[in-house]
Amino acid sequence: MTRPDVSELATLGLSLSESKQLLAQLQHEIVTRQFEATTQQRRHCGQCGTKRAIKDFHGARFRSLFGDVELRVPRLRKCQCAVDSPVQGSANATLRQRWIAPELECVQSELAAVLPYARSAELLSKLLPIGAGNSASTVRARTLHVGQRLESELTAAPVKPPGRRTPQPHVTTVGLDGGYVRHCDPAAGHSFEIIAGRLLADDGAQSSVGFVRTVDQHSRTRVQRAVAEQGKSSDNLMVFTDGDSRLRDLQLSVLPRATHVLDWYHLTRRLTVLSNVVCSKEAAEQLPSREHARLLWRLWHGRPVTAIARLESLLSRLARPSLAGKAVVARTHKLAAELLQYLKNNAESLPDYGRRYRAGERISTAFVESAVNQIIDKRMSKSQQMRWSPQSAHLLLQVRIRVIDGRLRQDFERWYPGFTANDATLQLSA
Ligand SMILES: [Zn+2]
Repeated sequence: MTRPDVSELATLGLSLSESKQLLAQLQHEIVTRQFEATTQQRRHCGQCGTKRAIKDFHGARFRSLFGDVELRVPRLRKCQCAVDSPVQGSANATLRQRWIAPELECVQSELAAVLPYARSAELLSKLLPIGAGNSASTVRARTLHVGQRLESELTAAPVKPPGRRTPQPHVTTVGLDGGYVRHCDPAAGHSFEIIAGRLLADDGAQSSVGFVRTVDQHSRTRVQRAVAEQGKSSDNLMVFTDGDSRLRDLQLSVLPRATHVLDWYHLTRRLTVLSNVVCSKEAAEQLPSREHARLLWRLWHGRPVTAIARLESLLSRLARPSLAGKAVVARTHKLAAELLQYLKNNAESLPDYGRRYRAGERISTAFVESAVNQIIDKRMSKSQQMRWSPQSAHLLLQVRIRVIDGRLRQDFERWYPGFTANDATLQLSA
């Protein structure tokens, strides 16, 4: 490589396109030589060591982050000793080989988990001499394939926890919440729900779960597996939800011994809407005052019976003939009735929030709210104008949560022996 004299800053050092060219050539050289050496080794019969003859070659294209490399894959004749005692016959193993570098799949999936498919393809092409297999549709297909592989492990035998002797952390808190993304087929509905959750252990570790309820057949196993992966299920495990009855059912079937807590964040959000209406200038002229303040206090102390009684008395006051026909009254009535129903549905899940709060215990799933935002919003949200099929959204979610939890590389290490070795620091040789 020849460089002009440095007269401009822009010509100092390698340019991006030069670096891509260099990397591609280097990769071509390395892959070709490695492959040649391996082929020579393979030619020696495993039984008797005789060098086998080459029948013919077939072409294969090895795809990597550093360009595509054309390979001539030899088909070897059977050794004389195998002809004499014909046993095995899986000479087709190389034919079924997918010639894709695991690192390419891993990096494409990692990017696609956080960026739209087209954007992640663009980014890789910009920086690396990546070959032809980097269109948005290929990146999508590969990412979903990784999701499918993660998914199939869910129903397979559980992965052995490493190091049986080490004390396992306890999972103390699980939070589950839902969010919506746009459906790609308007005929099938405007949007569909994604359940996102986060698990916290007493050693400070966190992990995530995510699934599309309508397509997921294994949500129970999924949550149980997530807990088992994180540590032991603690006896005083708390499960926080927004009070949605189906999430509640899921919790009961998956973690029946856990204590369910209605999330304070979701409760106050409803309360705020109601109190905003009650506090409005319009309402002040027409409504009995201070109801919302008392109500807030009652709920904060986690006394559902009193809170329900308060709401009922508010509702009966609103029903007075003198207040009939006023818009603000109708609105307050509707909100109060909804809140009352919500509280009644979740009466068993209202702790003494004030006591818990003062004791420094968790009362809110703000951590789940952030999980939902992280898992759904940035990559899949409605604001991105993206439309999803429930099935592919579900598979992408599986990749996403592994990336968010920083575990996707571990998954690749499990799938591809030598994946870590390839990540080792460069050994410079003279
Ligand atoms: Zn032989």
